[in-house]
Amino acid sequence: MNYEVYALKYGERDTTACQFFYRESSHEPITLHYFVWLILGGPQPILVDTGFRDDDAKARHIRNYVSPAAVVERAGVKVADIPIALITHLHYDHWAGHSLFPASEFWVQRDEVAFWTGPYARYEAFNQSQNVPALADLVPLNYAGRIRILDGDREVRPGIHVYRVGGHTAGLQIVTVQTARGTVVLTSDASHFYRNVERWQPVQIITSLPEMLAAFERIHELAGPEKLIVAGHDPQVSDRFKQVEPGIVKIA
Ligand SMILES: [Zn+2]
Repeated sequence: MNYEVYALKYGERDTTACQFFYRESSHEPITLHYFVWLILGGPQPILVDTGFRDDDAKARHIRNYVSPAAVVERAGVKVADIPIALITHLHYDHWAGHSLFPASEFWVQRDEVAFWTGPYARYEAFNQSQNVPALADLVPLNYAGRIRILDGDREVRPGIHVYRVGGHTAGLQIVTVQTARGTVVLTSDASHFYRNVERWQPVQIITSLPEMLAAFERIHELAGPEKLIVAGHDPQVSDRFKQVEPGIVKIA
């Protein structure tokens, strides 16, 4: 199966290198781009992550915010037609937009759900990246049959896989997709920027530093020689791949 993969940008935020990378001293300004990803070419579209809603956009000073659902529709897919959304992890910018996708079943790792409902979630070191009401929604959604809790690596559809890598969060999963150009690896926040995976530079937000480093290895291994690696928040995604219109990047 040859799928097509799109990165859809829905916002931007400015910070500095020292606020973001692990033990980094440079005050160099950096900009994060916020994406959801779309996998087309199968019987039905598959979404990767849900972004967030305008409440988080306002509270967290996000520039150029547009609703992730609006970008998905601009890419030609109705939100009502997306049966599966793979959730890489439960940070606000990947999960808090779940209600924008009312027809989707959300696939998330068991370790991720356990962490954010477990003993460490209460500490300030971890609770800054959360939208708590969105996390609370996990329970009613689960009882409504809309959460699929995964335990490790698995095939989603022929040619689409998730791999639990952890590191940045306890149950972070990355996604691979077979395309005509080779295997696309959607790293999400296993590698926010290309400098993470290419220069082996971790970020500050971590649950396990060894797992984060092992995740870099895994990404290279899964990508193979074509190196179709899509970093989770890097503005370079729009330069390394083909921007078909503003905010819509065709990876393969
Ligand atoms: Zn993120």
